[in-house]
Amino acid sequence: MTAVFLDRDGVLNEKMPEGRYVTSWSDFNLLPGVPESMARLNHAGLQVFVVSNQRCVALGLCTAADVDFIQSTFQNLLQSRGAHVDGFYFCPHDEGQCNCRKPLPGLYEQAAAEFPEITAESSAMIGDSLPDIEFGRRLGMLTVFIDGDPGRQKSSSQAAGKLAELRFPSLAEAVDHLLKNQASKSPLISQA
Ligand SMILES: [Mg+2]
Ligand SMILES: [Zn+2]
Repeated sequence: MTAVFLDRDGVLNEKMPEGRYVTSWSDFNLLPGVPESMARLNHAGLQVFVVSNQRCVALGLCTAADVDFIQSTFQNLLQSRGAHVDGFYFCPHDEGQCNCRKPLPGLYEQAAAEFPEITAESSAMIGDSLPDIEFGRRLGMLTVFIDGDPGRQKSSSQAAGKLAELRFPSLAEAVDHLLKNQASKSPLISQA
């Protein structure tokens, strides 16, 4: 594996109740173990990308600059904890207007244009919704479903959990599994 694509809301920070959006930094409540898990991915040499649907921009609830500010503040927080994101990509559009709203592939294409060494086949997509898992499946990534807060899950998340190859309660547990697998497949380790 060479790259990990992470959904934002519900994977890195708490998902808001249905119909509400994270529109400012004060709404961004980091989930437990997230900076540590991201640092482990960084140290394992994996590229880390955040791919996020932010329809709140199309709805006029926040601006693209607000999303950028949340991302850069999150990046600063990560850097203070020894972790970083290699690239943030988000879709500001409403449904049916673009090629970048997950499950459509545009956010992956934006990352691949900036980082031509990545391939979908050597990437994992970690998300908490059906569009995340469909996005990863269509591109040929390994897909990992994170069980969110049951009170804030869409009904389609059941289907997402079944469609994904792997399923864990949190990012920390998903990263544990991926890095163990990565280590066992490494030729350097098997030669040792
Ligand atoms: Mg999500
Ligand atoms: Zn879009």
